[in-house]
Amino acid sequence: MSLSTDVFQDQDIFIADILSKNKIIAMVGASKNWKRPSNFVMKYLQKYGFTVIPINPGNAGQYILNELCYASLQEVPIKIDMVNIFRPSEFCASITKDAINIGAKTVWMQLGIKNEEAINLGKEAKINVIYDKCPKMEHSRLSGALGLAGFNSRLISSKRPFVKNPPHAKRNGGIVKSNELETLSIHAGTRPDASTGSRSIPIYQTTSFTFDDTDHAASLFNLQEPGNIYARLTNPTVSALEQRIAALDNGLGACCAASGHAVQMLALFPLMEPGAKLIASSKLYGGSITQFTKTFKNFSWNADLVDVSDLDAVKNAVKDTSVKVLFAESLANPDGNITDISSLAEIAHEVGIPLVIDNTMATQILCQPGKFGADLIVYSTTKFLSGHGNAMGGAVVDMGNFPWDKGRAFSKLTTPDSSYHDINFYESFGNHAFINYCHASVLRDLGSTMAPLNAYLTLIGLETLPLRMKQHMKNAELVANFLKNHSKVNYVSWAGFKENIYHELAKKYFKDGFGSVFTFSLKSGYEGAMQLVENCNLISHLANVGDTRSLIVHPASTTHRQLNNEQKEKSGVGDSIIRLSIGLESHKDIIADLEGALSTI
Ligand code: PLP
Repeated sequence: MSLSTDVFQDQDIFIADILSKNKIIAMVGASKNWKRPSNFVMKYLQKYGFTVIPINPGNAGQYILNELCYASLQEVPIKIDMVNIFRPSEFCASITKDAINIGAKTVWMQLGIKNEEAINLGKEAKINVIYDKCPKMEHSRLSGALGLAGFNSRLISSKRPFVKNPPHAKRNGGIVKSNELETLSIHAGTRPDASTGSRSIPIYQTTSFTFDDTDHAASLFNLQEPGNIYARLTNPTVSALEQRIAALDNGLGACCAASGHAVQMLALFPLMEPGAKLIASSKLYGGSITQFTKTFKNFSWNADLVDVSDLDAVKNAVKDTSVKVLFAESLANPDGNITDISSLAEIAHEVGIPLVIDNTMATQILCQPGKFGADLIVYSTTKFLSGHGNAMGGAVVDMGNFPWDKGRAFSKLTTPDSSYHDINFYESFGNHAFINYCHASVLRDLGSTMAPLNAYLTLIGLETLPLRMKQHMKNAELVANFLKNHSKVNYVSWAGFKENIYHELAKKYFKDGFGSVFTFSLKSGYEGAMQLVENCNLISHLANVGDTRSLIVHPASTTHRQLNNEQKEKSGVGDSIIRLSIGLESHKDIIADLEGALSTI
């Protein structure tokens, strides 16, 4: 098989084939310095059975990681399968010519390196050409090890992962590819347990993980290879959840935290610094408004709230060069407002900042914000993703597209990190930098880790997410219509109604429904609202959403209580407003309960 990745139908199988057949690699530009990416990659490949011959005129005659270094490819006395290039793009064509002359089957240009002339030379010589990829990352992704760091392998399997001697699966290496949400919500991130065969993911209820030897320990601490050290940073049950959530967004990877609020902090920490500013939608969950406008001040982070339906106001707000992030909810809690994600992404990217979308209320089943240009997507997994109301949690998904070295400075990701021997995360990990930083630095230092039991419960909940969301949507539509026609109701703020100002945006961004968390206004004001919530007998009066049970709350006196009157009005939670989260009971019983409670006011 001799095809370049851009013409081959299935890149993963093509790359897996190359990694399984090209066992002797010449690494052009290999470095002696253990802090350089080439040294990391060489060490990793050696561990997994590859012979790596270093090529570097500056170190010729010396040993790098126990292999003799040569000045050029021509001098290597053994047959080379693959040439891995760690040199700037302008050197790639002449290195490729040398690789062809010595009979190499593959030329692999490292992450960030692509040279058209080299690609064409390889194609003409009918050898394999790969560019802008790292063999270490590809090997660890395809073997499942990268999943331990929360990255989406984009592959699922009902076969156990290989531990030492791979039992050869009879068809396609035991691997399945799927883009279907129904399949991913059940399978992504969880293969049968490698050592026991347990089909359900174990709850890895442990604080720490043993090292194979001191060298393995050092490689893990140096971030040279993915793996578990201490459960504040990573845990295999939590990693499985990270992979599944990332897969549902078709994202690059994810990082979980103890709650939705903890994950907002986690996701913003790599981007913000003292004096930096966040621009957020004024229509947000009340707790987020408090977190952004009050608590962030303690870190000298600033936040301005803007009506994101006014695109000129957003453009104006992000002009300030201290702004590092634009933040909005796809479907806002509590009012059901819908955000014009593509327009916000365009405005953010124009000034070189990422768009962060809180997709808690919509979930991936209604909306995949990454498709419309969002860079990072955050979830309170406490809500629909787990669904049962039993486990707190949060997750941030990185789509892997934002160029952290361009635009406004994101110094934590792009300058030497003294807590990790001065590595530059973006240079070392490319588009994996953000998620690696979240685990390796933010969870390490802020400690807002998700408990493995909560990850397990959330994984179980996720298995039924597509089914549940469809039923939530059906019930919501019936209840919204009932309320709209009720004489004691002023209006219902639900984007499914044609006359709703967000209806057209909903049709553009959402599928399968318009949300099951929405508000309605009572004609009788504050007192009537209190009476209604107290007189519901099936619908639970509590401060959560996205449960199988139907829920009701009066935001002005509860979830949004800490906001001042102006903020309450801007967030759409005046005194007469009631928020409903429609559950999965029979719609007949939900409506009967509301009808009974409404009759008391
Ligand atoms: N984002 C939204 C849209 C929410 O509704 C909530 C909680 O209600 C959060 C974030 C915070 O999540 P958690 O309660 O899991 O911290």
